[in-house]
Amino acid sequence: MNECTRIDVAELDRGELEHALEGLGHERFRGRQIFRWVYRQGVPDFARMTDLPLDLRAELARRFTVSTPAIAHRDESSDGTNKFLLELADRRHIEAVYIPDTPAQTLCISTQVGCAMRCAFCLTGKMGMVRNLTAGEIAAQVRLLTHELDLVEGGFNVVLMGMGEPLHNYDATMKALRMLADPYALGLTPGRVTLSTVGVLPALDRLATEPFMPNLAISLHATTEEMRDRLVPVNRKYGLADLVEACRRFPLKRRERITFEYVLLDGVNDTPQDARRLVKLLHGVRAKVNLIPLNEAPGIPFGRPSDARVDAFAEALAERGITVSVRKSRGRDIRAACGQLIVEGTFPSPAQRVAALL
Ligand code: SAH
Repeated sequence: MNECTRIDVAELDRGELEHALEGLGHERFRGRQIFRWVYRQGVPDFARMTDLPLDLRAELARRFTVSTPAIAHRDESSDGTNKFLLELADRRHIEAVYIPDTPAQTLCISTQVGCAMRCAFCLTGKMGMVRNLTAGEIAAQVRLLTHELDLVEGGFNVVLMGMGEPLHNYDATMKALRMLADPYALGLTPGRVTLSTVGVLPALDRLATEPFMPNLAISLHATTEEMRDRLVPVNRKYGLADLVEACRRFPLKRRERITFEYVLLDGVNDTPQDARRLVKLLHGVRAKVNLIPLNEAPGIPFGRPSDARVDAFAEALAERGITVSVRKSRGRDIRAACGQLIVEGTFPSPAQRVAALL
């Protein structure tokens, strides 16, 4: 049997794996054992699954595989942040970032190769959309990095803030979270996961009905429809007013709040009027605001405001009763910070661009 016809355990939730095993005449509990090896022990190699009978191991190796991305490159920042360039089976690349001691250990993972949202200040948006990641590719980032960094025992958080828009790849993202949450996998709890989104409204309403409900972060970035149309183009389809309304009805547990991310762009969306409008906009929403001073990059036509301007904006929110934090930029020296994830070499070459025009 060749590689293509093997069943990929990385793409299955435990129920699906158990079903596949049953179909081959094996007992369901083998699925739990395999999950434990793959996720808890970080061993994707059937031959090394020592609590399985030898003949089963041999059969599994013939019929199944566990695709795992390869670490093509790893950069370590002076602040301890690690950026991993991962190569997928089709040779596409994505990035995943480890941010230590925030105080939690945090893994920032990708949901797409590239991104279709094209936010005006984000480098990933410049790549455009290449393809969705599969559930297995999303979960594998966590599986791989937790073992690489020895995080399984101590606990870790996951933020869906890498490349891509998670609500634009809804089914794969939610399936990946279910796989990681499995008690025989990593037992990831919803409270340890944050899903960040520009607010794809139909998907946001669907998220509101999920049994596995991660913390929600909304990439807001503007206080008027006009400005958000410009900065976050999906706003032309799902506008600011409707987005905030969807947040108002989003089910939150006691004491839970929605985080609103707001990238501060010098002289663009960081004025005292913006601060006042933001307070008004969030009235009646259980919100906290996370300010992200722009991480500048070549090709991004905006500047980072001065610390004084950032402080003034934060202060203006705080004195009107909004809980506000300023995101410390991590890993900027290795281009691992927010909005800096891009896989070099994915821009079309000048020749390709000319070819596309013809
Ligand atoms: N697509 C999702 C997930 C990406 S999260 C979303 O947009 O929420 C990445 C976060 O970093 C988002 O809040 C994004 O707006 C922010 N970001 C993008 N580019 C940035 C930049 N250059 N500087 C600072 N933050 C940026």
